[in-house]
Amino acid sequence: MADAPKPLDLDRLRTRLKERILGALPDGRLDYCLTCGLCVSGCPASGLEGMDPRRLLRLLVFGQDDDVLATDWIYACTMCQRCKYACPMGIDVGRIVYELRGMRPRDRRPRNLQRSCDLQKASNSTGIPDEDFVWVVGDVLEEVRRNEPEWADLQAPIDKHGAEYFLNQNAKEPTVEPEEMVHLWKILHAAGVDWTYASRWWDGANYCLFPGDPADWELTVRRQAEMVDSLGVRYYINTE
Ligand code: SF4
Ligand code: SF4
Repeated sequence: MADAPKPLDLDRLRTRLKERILGALPDGRLDYCLTCGLCVSGCPASGLEGMDPRRLLRLLVFGQDDDVLATDWIYACTMCQRCKYACPMGIDVGRIVYELRGMRPRDRRPRNLQRSCDLQKASNSTGIPDEDFVWVVGDVLEEVRRNEPEWADLQAPIDKHGAEYFLNQNAKEPTVEPEEMVHLWKILHAAGVDWTYASRWWDGANYCLFPGDPADWELTVRRQAEMVDSLGVRYYINTE
């Protein structure tokens, strides 16, 4: 059985909260919020976990740091930044949420979210071996060519040096619904696009963005960028 998460070390977190949050606010000013509620009206997470973006700001203004640090609403917020565009003061609650997520100890984060990121740092977010990805692509391609004569010359290249476009791929599809990959292959084929997948760092999802650790998501993006460069591909298509 997994160990129970340790209690939040609120004393330690409180000392970091001000620095992280003020850096995410316009001019570093918490008191810019007018309490107008425009952010709440368009927020898909308003009311979940007893929280909304205006309330989060109010808790911060009134120094109720423990409530802010402990709320699981930060995982209900989608970080869509809709609030930022509705807010007359340009306050980006999604960015504040990102900072709060990064402050949450790893053993207190949603397990699947952190696990997907950890897997992606090693290879891809579902953890299927790279050889299986290559095999699945080849197998699905062969099946389409065999069963659909009008697509007998369909291509799904991997590691094609000098291709014009690099296409990444959400790892969920080759793992659980591989036939879903075919639609895009057909569109690219019909458009006459010269493209390729890679056999390493091919996962298009960026799960490491969501736990709020910049070093982790930079690492996964950088590895894919290096793969694109090593193949000498000109353009990068991010499917996610
Ligand atoms: S829209 Fe901006 S100013 Fe209005 S309540 Fe939300 S954060 Fe505050
Ligand atoms: S970023 Fe979060 S707080 Fe802002 S609108 Fe989206 S879900 Fe709501």
